[in-house]
Amino acid sequence: MSAISVRNVWVEFGDQVVIENLNLEIASGSFVSVVGPSGCGKSTFLRMVLGQDRPTRGALLLDGRPLRDEPDADRGVVFQRYSVFPHMTVLANVVAGYEFAQSPLLGRLFGRAKRQAVEKAEELIEAVGLAAHRHKYPLALSGGMQQRLAIAQALAKDPKILLLDEPFGALDPGTRAQMHALLKPLWARLGMTVIMVTHDLREAFGLGTRVVAFDKVRHDPQAPGRFGARVTYDLDLTREGPVPV
Ligand code: ADP
Ligand code: MG
Repeated sequence: MSAISVRNVWVEFGDQVVIENLNLEIASGSFVSVVGPSGCGKSTFLRMVLGQDRPTRGALLLDGRPLRDEPDADRGVVFQRYSVFPHMTVLANVVAGYEFAQSPLLGRLFGRAKRQAVEKAEELIEAVGLAAHRHKYPLALSGGMQQRLAIAQALAKDPKILLLDEPFGALDPGTRAQMHALLKPLWARLGMTVIMVTHDLREAFGLGTRVVAFDKVRHDPQAPGRFGARVTYDLDLTREGPVPV
């Protein structure tokens, strides 16, 4: 069964068609890179999988069930910038991710549960190479470190699906390469489904097991505002073997 099924999905804002009749089946455990020009609907697609933008038509299923029945904690998300809480230390940020997953209404854990949350957060912080910085605040970290922190926070939820919206877009090439070296083994180890939007084709092909390209297609020549994202190509790289970044 697919981790994510997108069936004849449309997303419309007023008379603007942003996603037009999209169909995608995303296999559990796959790493899907999404590429395409600015404004073609990639972020809208991720927000839809997050449950923030609702399809106006069609069906979106996670593990075969309608999205609204799935807990938020099943999905972790990292944006290009500002995914973490600036007023919390590295450790508190990751603990907060874990607390939210365990206790979505209260958002806090106490006693033994809290100690477990801290232990788990310490492990993740170690895994993303921030152990020495765990008592610092995000502003004291470099851009690459902040994105490592955002990844650790998203993973603290133990998500089935990790959504990455141009997560390394603001980083220099060297730091990006470090992030690739971090993310790929984490994905392989944790067995989650990843959808990553990127403008970097090397990154898309280097990390992805599948690359899906969206493009904006004129929907209705009589109504110039009506464009909709469509899939223009879809490559399964697992048949070709891994492509080095
Ligand atoms: P991408 O991430 O591919 O650059 P987006 O998904 O951010 O593209 O946006 C796709 C289109 O949808 C853009 O034309 C944008 O203006 C429009 N759009 C996105 N969100 C909204 C919204 N909440 N209301 C109206 N239009 C929106
Ligand atoms: Mg975007």
